[in-house]
Amino acid sequence: MGKLDGRVVIVTGAARGQGEQEARLFAAEGARVVVADVLDDRGEALAKEIGARYVHLDVGSEDDWQAAVTATKDAYGHVDGLVNNAGILRFNSLLDTPLDEFMQVVQVNQVGCFLGIRAVAPEMADGGTIVNTASCTGLTGMAAVGAYAATKHAVVGLTRVAALELAGRGIRVNAVCPGAIDTAMSNPARLDPDADPAETAKGLDRLYRKLVPLGRVGRPEEVAGLALFLTSEDSSYITGQPFVIDGGWLAGVSVI
Ligand code: NAD
Repeated sequence: MGKLDGRVVIVTGAARGQGEQEARLFAAEGARVVVADVLDDRGEALAKEIGARYVHLDVGSEDDWQAAVTATKDAYGHVDGLVNNAGILRFNSLLDTPLDEFMQVVQVNQVGCFLGIRAVAPEMADGGTIVNTASCTGLTGMAAVGAYAATKHAVVGLTRVAALELAGRGIRVNAVCPGAIDTAMSNPARLDPDADPAETAKGLDRLYRKLVPLGRVGRPEEVAGLALFLTSEDSSYITGQPFVIDGGWLAGVSVI
C-alpha cells in the first residue's frame, strides 16, 4: 500500500529540484502525478520515466491553469492534491531592485500560488490537500532577497487564509518552509552538465557548516518527504501551518 494510492496530485515546477523529487516520491507512493513546468523537455522526460502526465504550465498564467486542470480531469477524472512548488529567486538589495524584477518574482511565486489555489480548489475532491512552497524567508528576513522574501511571506498568508476558507470541505492547506536546499536555485552548478553533483554538494555543505546547526545543506528528497507527509493521511488533523525544514537554521543563534 502506498501513502497516496488512488490520489491525483498536480506538482508545479516539477521538472527539476524539489518538485522533481516530490513527483518521484508521490508516484512511488501510488499517486497519479501531473508534472507541470515550463521546462517542457525535462518535464516530459521525467513524466515518461515515472509514469506521470506532463502539462506545460506557466504558474503566472490563468489560461495555463485552466488548461492544466482540464487536462488533469480528462486524464484521471478527478484531482485530490496540489503542490504549488514553482518558484524563482533574484538577488538584489531592495534599493537596487528594479520594479520589473520585483514584479517578475511576485508573478511566479505569489500570483502563481494564488492562481493555483483558485483554479484547482473548486475542482478538487472534498478532503483534498494543498501544499504551498514558502521558505525560511517567508518567516524571517534575509538581506539581498527582498522581492523573494516578500513573496514567500505572502505564500504563508495565502496558506492560512486558504486553510480557513477550504476547511469546510475538508481541504487542508499547509506550507513548507525550506532553508538552504541543494537544487539549482541554491547551487547553480547543478545546471552544469560537467559538474559532479556530489562535489558541488560538498562545497555547499562547507558553506553551511557554520550557518546551519545540522552543519549541511538540505536535500530536495528531504523536502519531498515533508510534502508527502502534508499530502497524505498522516497529517489528517493539520491545516493552515508553515512547516520549517532547515537543519535548525531558524532555531536561533549559538554563542558557544
Ligand atoms: P529549482 O530552480 O531547481 O526549481 C524550480 C522549478 O520551478 C524549475 O523546474 C522551474 O522551471 C520551475 N518554474 C520557474 N518558473 C516557473 C513558472 N513560471 N511556471 C512553472 N514552473 C516554473 O529550485 P527548487 O529549489 O527546486 O525550488 C522549488 C521551490 O522551493 C521554489 O518555490 C523555491 O522558491 C523554494 N525554495 C527553495 C530553496 C532552496 O534553497 N533551493 C529554499 C527555500 C524555498
